[in-house]
Amino acid sequence: MSAADFSRTPWVDVAERIERGALAVLAIGACEQHGAHLPLTTDTDMAHGVGRRLADDLDALLLPPITYGDAWTASAYPGTISISPRTLQAMIEDIGHELLRMGVQGLIIVNGHFGNREPMLLAARRLTTAGLPVCHLDYPGLERLAGDICESAPAGPGFYHADEVETAIMLAIAPDSVDIARAEPSYPQFPPTFGSEPMQFRDFNPSGVFGDPRPATRDKGEALIAGILGESLKLVAAWRARHGI
Ligand SMILES: [Zn+2]
Repeated sequence: MSAADFSRTPWVDVAERIERGALAVLAIGACEQHGAHLPLTTDTDMAHGVGRRLADDLDALLLPPITYGDAWTASAYPGTISISPRTLQAMIEDIGHELLRMGVQGLIIVNGHFGNREPMLLAARRLTTAGLPVCHLDYPGLERLAGDICESAPAGPGFYHADEVETAIMLAIAPDSVDIARAEPSYPQFPPTFGSEPMQFRDFNPSGVFGDPRPATRDKGEALIAGILGESLKLVAAWRARHGI
């Protein structure tokens, strides 16, 4: 079976799916700089692409993604459009309440952007309390997969931004939007207080790339996605068993 993609599905078919018992998949991304070789919607494109494959495997409803996120750290790069964590949390909660009202059994969130984590966790907590079980996924297994599949080192532990990982996944999901000829490595010197105070990334990283995107290939991207999908399906199965859905 394939997902009921909201961008291609009339309401009557969604109603019929929900009648049979349905889960929904929501990708949350960002509109954020990703160097000179990737588009601003990279995080959204990646999360929605992974979400689409997950929804296909689960025969789930594939919701339109949330295309903006909390990208405050990148707001000094023109093109980045950040929304507040409060706004993002409210959007996720509003969407969740609508799903609950129409009888969806549970919500799976695929997060494509680090800055979305806190508002996502808070929204998930409130929706679960309201009666909608939420499983939130942050590309599970990515650190191990990146270590196995990619050639270049990340700019920081678990830090993947416009690097080989993200470029490879984009080559698999949206190859036409990658301009690999413009890919340049950048390993910025992180200020000593990185992680201990709010910080604009442009202050210490002019290009916006963290790592080396050049060795990225479509095959690596497919392997990363397959690994993420496998780990995600295991988590979703355990979450469904816990909730009997
Ligand atoms: Zn990204």
